[in-house]
Amino acid sequence: MARYTGPKCRLCRREGMQLFLKGERCYTEKCSLKRRPYPPGIHGPVKKPRLSIYGLQLREKQKAKRIYGVLERQFRRYFEMARKMTGNTGENLLSILERRLDNVVYRLGFAISRSQARELVSHGHVLVNGRKVDIPSYLVKEGDVVTLKEKMWENSFVKYALQRKDLRPLPEWLSFDPNKKEGRILRLPERKDIVYPIQESLIVELYSK
Ligand code: ZN
Repeated sequence: MARYTGPKCRLCRREGMQLFLKGERCYTEKCSLKRRPYPPGIHGPVKKPRLSIYGLQLREKQKAKRIYGVLERQFRRYFEMARKMTGNTGENLLSILERRLDNVVYRLGFAISRSQARELVSHGHVLVNGRKVDIPSYLVKEGDVVTLKEKMWENSFVKYALQRKDLRPLPEWLSFDPNKKEGRILRLPERKDIVYPIQESLIVELYSK
């Protein structure tokens, strides 16, 4: 599957915020946004250009795509899906992104980044309602139970991620039973559950032209 494989913190510099694409790297000095707090490119630090309306809309869309690790075609499909749903299109869009199985695995604290979570899913280590689901874009539903295959609890990446769970508090729409090691979708995520500074209305405007 196609995805961005370049330096992850270069994208932090482009968006001017820590995106945590590489887990904890953004907390450290290794995040290149800390060393070079200006957009990437050969021109070095230049005066921040004033963005056109289109530019602002584009940046919001790119930011959302990068946070969730989704490429244009799929993002566009999510937008169409969001538009056909009742309610606010932008809020629906964020809710759909948040319902992706790779995001849920990340939110439950089984992985330190969405890309690591995506790998857990695509390698067949994730169970939804007791069945293997190896599609990272699978959208969870209310009542779904998400867990890992038994042997994965001994995996060093998973163990480490669980130790560092405190860095990423569990959102209210999910619960985790530490004895059964099961995550549960209590309800679908809403706008208030999504803490990223994404102005989804700009994305809607961009696609509505
Ligand atoms: Zn970074």
